Amino acid sequence: MSVKILDKDTIIKQKSDGFNPLIIGQPATIFHARAARLRQLAQDSFMADYLLLAGQIVQQQVHLVETFNSAVQQQLQTKTLTWPIEIDSTWQAILDPMLTQLTSALRPIVSDDIVKVIDNLSQIDQQTLQHYFHALQQNQPERVPADIAIILWACINTLMSLIVTNTQLEWQPEANAKQSHCPLCGGAPVASLIQGSGHRYLHCSQCETEWHRLRAECTQCGDGENIQLQSESLEDSVRAETCGHCQSYLKMLVLEKNPQLDPIADDLATLVLDQKLSQMEFYRNGFNPFLLPLAQ
Ligand SMILES: [Zn+2]
Ligand SMILES: [Zn+2]
Repeated sequence: MSVKILDKDTIIKQKSDGFNPLIIGQPATIFHARAARLRQLAQDSFMADYLLLAGQIVQQQVHLVETFNSAVQQQLQTKTLTWPIEIDSTWQAILDPMLTQLTSALRPIVSDDIVKVIDNLSQIDQQTLQHYFHALQQNQPERVPADIAIILWACINTLMSLIVTNTQLEWQPEANAKQSHCPLCGGAPVASLIQGSGHRYLHCSQCETEWHRLRAECTQCGDGENIQLQSESLEDSVRAETCGHCQSYLKMLVLEKNPQLDPIADDLATLVLDQKLSQMEFYRNGFNPFLLPLAQ
């Protein structure tokens, strides 16, 4: 592994205007591209089966978006949202049929192991299911069995993405605010993305929004003195930004090197980097739902 000290002088100076501090994506476009990226990464991976399973789940999210977009729009007309969004019980009327559609579509195409997970899921009572959805949305995945969490997460992720994309929003970061979680839904970032402009955005694991954060500072503790980039090679488009102050790291995807990069897919496919950083006693602060079963 090579280690490169971040050279602040080479970083593009970020302007105080002329760029958007918040980027809200189109969920169907994001999920479609992510599923394709997962299939592509599976072609040359030691964890091909798992990447393909993730791709099957994400591909179904495209259909969930198509089916439930108008229901989310209708629900939004009757509600006053506060930020960050919290999923209350009224959204269960959408989450329940979403879960039914997702599991029905997955059942005929997934392996026997996953069919068992779907069977177990169908035995869970309504109150427990609501508790699990709430825990996932509140960044408490440890309260949910990991194998079913990846399926429930697909519903939460689809719903939150539909809520933010159907809401007219403007967001201006407060001066000197170091936003470590999504300003819209409170979700944890998956990874940093360096856009072609050189600006760094954090990508929300929950609603797919991207919010601006200055480069060369830790996204967790804000320290800027002990930042290093770790990667497999200097050419890598996926690196990890480590902080020697709080011993955490977040992966950083450089889109200029490869525009096909997807935060969820490429984070998952670069697990080897996480293993090395774990040996160096750094801990992850990025959240990726598909890592939950692997961490068991
Ligand atoms: Zn979010
Ligand atoms: Zn730090």
